[in-house]
Amino acid sequence: MKEDVEPLVHDGFAGEPAKRCLNYIQSQRELGKHVVGIYCGYAPMEVIRAAGLVPAVLCAFADKTIAAGETVLPANLCPLIKSSYGFIKTDTCPFYAVSEAVIAETTCDGKKKMFELIADIKPTHVMDLPQLPDQKEALENWTKMIKKLGGFLENTFDCKVAKKNVEQEIKNTNYKNQLLNRIFNFAALTPVPLTWQEIYDLTYLGQTATIQDMLPVLNAALAKLQKRVADGVYHGKPDSPRVLVTGCPVGGDATKVFKIIEEAGGVIVALDSCTGMKAYSGYIEEGTQDPFAAISRRYLELPCSCMTPNKRRLTELDKLIGKFYPDVVIDVVLHACHSYNVESQKVKAHVEGKHSLPFLKIETDYSQSDLEQIRTRVEALLETVPTK
Ligand code: SF4
Ligand code: SF4
Repeated sequence: MKEDVEPLVHDGFAGEPAKRCLNYIQSQRELGKHVVGIYCGYAPMEVIRAAGLVPAVLCAFADKTIAAGETVLPANLCPLIKSSYGFIKTDTCPFYAVSEAVIAETTCDGKKKMFELIADIKPTHVMDLPQLPDQKEALENWTKMIKKLGGFLENTFDCKVAKKNVEQEIKNTNYKNQLLNRIFNFAALTPVPLTWQEIYDLTYLGQTATIQDMLPVLNAALAKLQKRVADGVYHGKPDSPRVLVTGCPVGGDATKVFKIIEEAGGVIVALDSCTGMKAYSGYIEEGTQDPFAAISRRYLELPCSCMTPNKRRLTELDKLIGKFYPDVVIDVVLHACHSYNVESQKVKAHVEGKHSLPFLKIETDYSQSDLEQIRTRVEALLETVPTK
């Protein structure tokens, strides 16, 4: 992409999604809104928004707070947890500082135990997430947990989580997802008219901003993309290897992998993680008798490796491969994330067996010490892609 091409989100924060979100949250606080911290793709956004609250993502991706995290947590723990906790320990997380309460889910063991450590600092509401999503009890229990969250928010913030507002937020989520997916669709083109950073900027903001505030941003982005296509503006080269990245959430210092993929000549066409397109897939059924159950059903379909079995990860991958037709698949696994690491075996077998695509697993953390090792492996992978 030429340097003079206007970024999709043109507000002075291009490539700095955390700053953009913080700016947004501060503007909402000035309007008198309360903020709750969230840690996971399972946080039921529709209930949070129906309560009139602003969600702030607390997952951290910075190497600089790992050492502080390790003064309490074991070194052999996922960097996302150590970094997030390190920010809290050093009282340097602006998102945590503005959050008046925290919503947490029992996903992986490391996060679960970290929640116990932070529960003394702020009201922390832990939701018991069922991990056998296909069992009928899972739907019943998760629906109860979602309703209970409504009660927690009502008591903590002296607000009302009205059923009709939850229903409206379901519609808002579906509409936001539809618009974001229209933007993602542009990554299916060859050559690709947008960058991974632009996709990431939008997906990051979409977690926090309401549909009303996202609407002008998304409509402007769609218009810019149409213009780019008409003007022949694209990213990479027309014959660059197309890369689908799957795995753990990636942001901040871990985006080193994305940068290396680009430097090695690849273009990232799909980001299959909670910091990418995954959060905007699916549909919540509208107009049901019980909107809490409809939300529950949708969230249980999220293909996180904490679920067992997690067959939906593979069916969702099939859809992404069918839509974005990557030449290679790269699975980014954070150190000590056992569930994504073990699951990588199945993903590799599926990608190589069913789709005959080259596959690479990269285990990494937030440090910069493995840059050259990752570069060598990515370059070797992309060299296997035949010239088009
Ligand atoms: S990868 Fe799983 S645990 Fe992590 S944010 Fe996504 S849904 Fe939550
Ligand atoms: S990346 Fe893995 S270990 Fe880390 S918080 Fe997410 S699920 Fe847990």
